Amino acid sequence: CGQCTLVCPVGALIEAPHWHDVLNVLDSRKRVSVVQVAPATRIAISEEFGMKPGTVSTGRLINALRALGFDYVFDTNFTADLTIMEEGSELLARLEAGTRLPLFTSCCPGWVNWIELNRPDLLAHLSTTKSPQQMHGAMTKRGNFARSLGPEFSDGKAEPYVVSVMPCTAKKDEARRPGMSGDVDHVLTTRELARMIRSRDIAFGALDEDGSFDNPLGESTGAAQIFGASGGVMEAMVRTAAHLKGLEDQIPLEWQQLRGVHDAVKTASIPGVGTVAVCNGIAAAQRMLESDDWRTEFVAIEVMACSGGCLGGGGEPKSMDPDVLKKRSKAIYDMDARAPRRRSYENTDVRKLYETQLHKPNSAAAHHLLHTHYSGRGSKRSMLMRFLDYVDRREA
Ligand code: SF4
Repeated sequence: CGQCTLVCPVGALIEAPHWHDVLNVLDSRKRVSVVQVAPATRIAISEEFGMKPGTVSTGRLINALRALGFDYVFDTNFTADLTIMEEGSELLARLEAGTRLPLFTSCCPGWVNWIELNRPDLLAHLSTTKSPQQMHGAMTKRGNFARSLGPEFSDGKAEPYVVSVMPCTAKKDEARRPGMSGDVDHVLTTRELARMIRSRDIAFGALDEDGSFDNPLGESTGAAQIFGASGGVMEAMVRTAAHLKGLEDQIPLEWQQLRGVHDAVKTASIPGVGTVAVCNGIAAAQRMLESDDWRTEFVAIEVMACSGGCLGGGGEPKSMDPDVLKKRSKAIYDMDARAPRRRSYENTDVRKLYETQLHKPNSAAAHHLLHTHYSGRGSKRSMLMRFLDYVDRREA
C-alpha cells in the first residue's frame, strides 16, 4: 500500500504475516479467544473467494471465523459507535470551550503517524479518542466482558486472546503503540485472513450466510458501518452531534456532500455545528495544510490515509477493476440505508455500557479506557528507538 508505506514511521511497514501465530494459539486451545472484524473487511473478503466486488459476506465471514476456532466473534462496528459517542462529545466540548479547533479525527493510524512525524505542531488538534480497534481491545480485556469469563479474568491472572481483522497494515503498528496496553494481541489483514481460511480448506463461498456476531460487543448501527468509507466517520459524527445538540429533527441523516472516492476535499455546512471537511487520502490533507485557511474554515476535519478510506486499505484484496472502490463503497452505504438503527447513540449495548461502566461520554472512566495521547516522533532518537522496537518485534 503506497499510502501506508508513506506514513510508516521508519519506512519499514510491511504486511508482516501473523496468521501462523494466530493459528498456533487457536489450535492450542489454552486461551479464551476473541476476534473482532472491521467494517470494510466483510465486503472486500468476498473478492478473495471469487465473488463480485461489493458482495457483502458478513454471515459467511462469521461462520469462517468460528470454523477456525475462535470462541467469540465480535464486531468492531460496536466500538465504531462508541468512538462516535466519545469523539462527537469531544467535538462539542471543544466548540463550547473554543479551543483546539478544528478537531482532527484520529481513527486512522496512517494519519496519526503522519502528524506525529511531519507536523507535531498540530498534535493538539487530534481527537484523543482511540480508534474502534483499540477501544474494542480495551473493552474486551478490561471491561465487563472479561469479568464475565470468570474470577481469574477479574483479578488479572488471565486475559482473553484478542485478534482483530482489519483492511489495514498500519493497524498492526497501532496495536503496539505506547499507551495501548497490549489490548490487541494480533492484527490480521483481510488478505491474511483469506490465506488462513484457505490453509484450513474452508470453502468460504459454500458457507451459510446466517452467522451472527456475539454480544454484548457485537451490536452496531448503520453509522458504524460507514466508517469503512472516506467521509463515513464525519457523517457518523454529524448524526450524533446533531442529536447531542437537540437538532436531529432539523438536520438530515445523510450527507452526500461528504461521500465519494474523488480526490478533492469534501465539505458540508452543518447547522448549529459549523463547516466540516473530509480529506480523502494523505495527499488531499497535505494540499489542505499548504495554506492556513483550514484553521478558520472548519470545526472538524476527517483524514483517512488511503484513497477511498479503509475500503481501499493496504490489507484489502488487490483488484484490477477500476471501479472497485465505488462498488465497495456502494455496498457500505447500502448496508447503512438498510440498517434498523443508523445513529450511534441508538446502539442499545453502547447505552448499557455507559449506564453500567462508563457513566457518560468523556467521563473519567471513559477517558481511562477509551482515550489516548500522541507525541511528536520526528527526532533521530525517536526514529531509532522505534526502528529498534520494530526489529525486536520482527524477531520475537
Ligand atoms: Fe488503515 Fe483505513 Fe487509515 Fe488506510 S485509511 S491507513 S486502511 S485506517
